[in-house]
Amino acid sequence: MYRRERKSAVARMGAPAPAVARRLRSPAGRGSPYCGTMQLSDSFGRVGTDLRVSLTDRCNLRCSYCMPAEGLPWLTGPEVLTDDEVVRLVGVATGLLEVTEVRLTGGEPTLRAGLPALVARIAGLRPRPRISMTTNGLSLSRLAAPLAAAGLDRVNVSLDTVRPAAFSQITRRDRFDDVVAGLAAAATAGLAPVKVNAVLVRGVNDDEAPELLRWCLQRGYQLRFIEQMPLDAGHTWDASTMVTAPEILAGLERHFRLEPVVGRGSAPAELFAVDGGPARVGVIASVTAPFCGACNRVRLTADGQVRTCLFAREESDLRTALRAGASDDELARRWVTAMAGKKAGHGINDPAFVQPTRSMSAIGG
Ligand code: SAM
Ligand code: SF4
Repeated sequence: MYRRERKSAVARMGAPAPAVARRLRSPAGRGSPYCGTMQLSDSFGRVGTDLRVSLTDRCNLRCSYCMPAEGLPWLTGPEVLTDDEVVRLVGVATGLLEVTEVRLTGGEPTLRAGLPALVARIAGLRPRPRISMTTNGLSLSRLAAPLAAAGLDRVNVSLDTVRPAAFSQITRRDRFDDVVAGLAAAATAGLAPVKVNAVLVRGVNDDEAPELLRWCLQRGYQLRFIEQMPLDAGHTWDASTMVTAPEILAGLERHFRLEPVVGRGSAPAELFAVDGGPARVGVIASVTAPFCGACNRVRLTADGQVRTCLFAREESDLRTALRAGASDDELARRWVTAMAGKKAGHGINDPAFVQPTRSMSAIGG
């Protein structure tokens, strides 16, 4: 049984890339030999195959629904996983735990020094995961081409408004033009499909859904609205004033014909064909219509903590084990144990809901 599992796992992985192969074959390399295949299953039958890796908790914007104007107490350098540690843990996830998607996020992931080299190392893992990144887009003019060359497959760029004044109000920075240029650079670099994430804020851009959609359609970007979640560092989220998915859809339907696209799978966005298609728009109704039942996500914070959910109140410390010399197999087992405790849902709508200690930027959105 043990041998068969081991053989089939290696066969699935194809020819291991040198780094992984060395790890799997050499007990001297990482402590213990590879011993079988595991999945990040939870007790509700869901399997984590989509890993969100936060590369930093820092950011060069201060979006009001995410961070306070003064920023946050940032992680110190030694607390943050090194490139070697990130690659090692992602390699454990993809090589031993059947993770197939890796999304780089933060904070702002493009603030990470040497990002293209890190992406190239992740792209060199076997089996190779699909690699995407969520970014505010400020640095994409400079980084889109090198990131694409390094192996990044696609990007989601966060842009809540196409009105420069509203952009400055939401992000507390006057950088609208940089995001627009970054989006264009991403498209030119082939990081397709270029997706735009938008959060609507009551009293600022809550009337802007149709304008934003038109702007994205003209440029070939796929727009997805995200309901604002109680993950802001300032704890100002208010269910009674948040802009809901039904409200967003009603606003769009005054200008466009929307038809639901069937076959959502584990995707968080409910998709709609716009005016008969092929263009689409998505709405992620995390609060009003949670999709926890189909969740396939798992998160790794910039300081090496596994989180099974954005709203989890517990974390599992892989960094300490990693730095104490744990083998890949041991790290994988710790990860599996953490995932087994994943809750059925995020519980935002429970009366007893308590916002997690870490806010969105410190978790990795
Ligand atoms: N800095 C990058 C960015 O903004 O794309 C990546 C990290 S950011 C935390 C990831 C996504 O989370 C962004 O699309 C952002 O709009 C979204 N986000 C942040 N705070 C949120 C909140 N309270 N509710 C819903 N989405 C939020
Ligand atoms: Fe920074 Fe992204 Fe948070 Fe905005 S949403 S403050 S860009 S981490």
